[in-house]
Formats: sequence, C-alpha cells, structure tokens
Amino acid sequence: MKKQRIAMPLQVEHIIGKLRQGGFEAYAVGGCVRDSLLGREPGDWDITTSARPEEVKRLFRRTIDTGIQHGTVTVLMDRIGYEVTTYRIDGEYEDGRHPQEVVFTSELIEDLRRRDFTINAMAYSHDTGIVDAFDGMEDLKDRVIRCVGNAMERFGEDALRILRAIRFSAQLDFAIEDKTYQAISRIAPNIAKVSKERIQVELTKVLCSDNPKKIGEVYETGISRYISPAFSRLPWQEFQLPEGLSAEKYVRWAAFLRLAGPKEAVQTLKDLKLDNETISRVRTLAAWAGREIPAEAAEVRRTMSKMSPEVWDTLMELNEYGEEIHRLTGEIRERGDCLDLKHLAVNGQDLIAAGVKPGKEIGRILQELLELVLECPKRNEREILLGEIKSKDFHCWRRGSDGII
Ligand code: ATP
Ligand code: MG
Repeated sequence: MKKQRIAMPLQVEHIIGKLRQGGFEAYAVGGCVRDSLLGREPGDWDITTSARPEEVKRLFRRTIDTGIQHGTVTVLMDRIGYEVTTYRIDGEYEDGRHPQEVVFTSELIEDLRRRDFTINAMAYSHDTGIVDAFDGMEDLKDRVIRCVGNAMERFGEDALRILRAIRFSAQLDFAIEDKTYQAISRIAPNIAKVSKERIQVELTKVLCSDNPKKIGEVYETGISRYISPAFSRLPWQEFQLPEGLSAEKYVRWAAFLRLAGPKEAVQTLKDLKLDNETISRVRTLAAWAGREIPAEAAEVRRTMSKMSPEVWDTLMELNEYGEEIHRLTGEIRERGDCLDLKHLAVNGQDLIAAGVKPGKEIGRILQELLELVLECPKRNEREILLGEIKSKDFHCWRRGSDGII
C-alpha cells in the first residue's frame, strides 16, 4: 500500500467520509483512480463500499436506485450523481457476458479481483492511500493493459472485456500485455456474444481517442470477423487520419470508413446499429471522399448544396482541400449565396400560381432552378426565376394543357 495523495472532488470526499463515520469502509475505485494517477481528468468518480445498498440509502438524503440488484445506489450531491456500489463478487457467468448472480462481500480485495484490468482494480481513500493488490501501479508505470488473474478465464467470463482492452490501449496509448493479447486472439469468437450496440460503443471510443489507428488491433487480434462481415472487409491498413480532425463520432467513423466507399460504409454502420444521423452523414462523406473539386465558386456551391454546412467543413478536412476552397467557402457564406431550396427566391406555391401542375413536377423544377442559382447566385430573384421556367430550357416540363402554360 502506497500513501500517495489523490485530489478528489469535495463531494466524493464527503460521501466517503460519511460512509466511514457510519462505520463502513469506502473508497474511490476504478477509472477515477487510474486517471488521477495518470494525470488525466477522470470522467466520473465511482465509490465502492462495504455498506449494503439499504445502508447507503439510510445515510444520504438524496439517492436513486440505479442498479440496486447489483448493489449500486446513486448518491446525489450538488445535483451530480455518484455511483456507490457495495463490494461484490460476480457469480457464475451464464452467457459469456453477464454474471448469473451478484454476491455481496465484506472484503475490498474480493471486489477488486472481479475487475477487468490491473490498472482498473485500484481503490483509494485519503485514510488508506492507494490499495493496489494486483500491481496496477506497476502496470501504469509500464503502460500495459493486463487482466486481473487468468486472462483466458476473465475474457471467458465476459467477452466485452476483449474490446475494453483494445479501447483502453487506444485511449491511454498503452500496450496490451502478451498473455492478455494471446488470450484475446484465442477467445476471439466469444465476441459474437456481445451485443452490437456494446461493440459499437467500444469501437467508437477507439476511433475518437488520440490513437484511432489502434482500431487495427481489432483486426490483428482476429476479432473483426466476429463483429460483422462488412466491418471485417474494411481496408483498415490504409487508415490514416488527417491532422487536426475533430473527435466527433461521425467524423471519426467517416475517416475510417471513407476508404471503403459509401455502400460498405453504410452496411458497417447498420450492422453496428449506429444512429441514423451518423449513418446519413457518413454516407455523404464516404461518397465525396477523395474527390478533387476545382477551386471555383460555382463548383464549391454545388458541392456545398449536397450536404449540411457542418458536413462540408468536415469534408474539406477529410479531403484536405486547399486554401482556395476554404477562402471560397468563406465568401459564399459571407455573401449568403443560396445553397438550398429553402433560400430559393421562389417556392412551390409560386410555381403553382405560375401554372405548374401540383405534384412531382414542382420538386423537379425547383431543383433545376436551384442548379441555375448555384451556377450564378445573382439569378436568385423571383422575376428572373419565374421568367426562367417559361423559357425554352424548361420545355421538358411542359405537359400541354396540364403542365406549364
Ligand atoms: P471510463 O473512463 O471509460 O469511464 P472506467 O474504467 O471508469 O473507464 P467504467 O466502464 O466506467 O470504466 O467501469 C468502472 C470500473 O468498473 C472499471 O474501472 C472496472 O474496474 C470495472 N469494470 C467495468 N466494466 C467491467 C467489466 N466488463 N468487467 C470487469 N470489470 C469492469
Ligand atoms: Mg467510468
């Protein structure tokens, strides 16, 4: 046990203090201890305690039964929730993912033993300092991800840990320790037991980390083929992230999937149950990826009109468009050039009033007018556009008596 002091939020100090005054043991545990020791800002502070859930609830005024059957009570303090979980041992695992039952224990070390990696299995309180029963400190120093106990057993219990190992190696830029790595390769088929949503969350964390290229470990360890056929076909070896790319979900997925083309990109994202908004943005970006466009205002406007402003900004980064295209974009936005039907000087009603038959034709004509305006923004005036639809260029839409007069 090493007496090193970790700065904790006042609320966490308060919760731990109150549990101790109540005669229980209590520690900050897991990710927050790991991140504090690494000098990273912890995402959340979890507390582990010898107190049973009912006892925790008795000690604090505001609590939420988050996962009471697993021993977790959320304690609300200054409107922030802190998860307080009773020391527990996970029972037999039934499906390679979930323990059949959870057994409470009075021993901190038993609770630490059930945790996935040594760096995640440390506890801390001001009174005791760091409790490090599985050499997590040493692994932090050596920058390695190592299972607590036997790696094959631990991955066998819960296959999600396989992806967590790769995810932490990307987020922390740590290597996966040899035995842990070998176990991952051997137990790869078990990944099929993990839900696609959970797989997606972990893969997204890898791509959004500072080391997105570590997505390659998913392939090198042989687990990709148990994730999805489309995912396993991706040309991951060619993956390069342009410098300075934002860490948003859709941006990172697009950077990874653009190499595969829009069809494969969309299939991969559907397999992994990504949300429709992400799928739609990635589809657009994958379709435009790698396309050079001439540095001309009209061409830039035409391309901009195919996507939202945000997606266009991302495309410029992904395709590493030069200064000239960035400058033209700035001018187009400054002038407020019309880029979509919403900003066209005429609408469907105007066309109907001008004698176009209501229906599909309206949409097509509006689209054609938009093309004219994208070519030359000065044309975006009511008179000009209404004049335009009567000109010979619009013959294709004339439908005798029931078309344009
Ligand atoms: P993050 O920064 O992503 O929150 P974390 O380490 O806090 O990282 P959590 O998913 O919040 O990860 O889990 C909190 C702790 O619970 C972990 O540090 C680990 O001790 C334990 N843990 C979480 N998931 C598992 C698992 N699948 N198997 C074993 N232990 C786990
Ligand atoms: Mg956490």
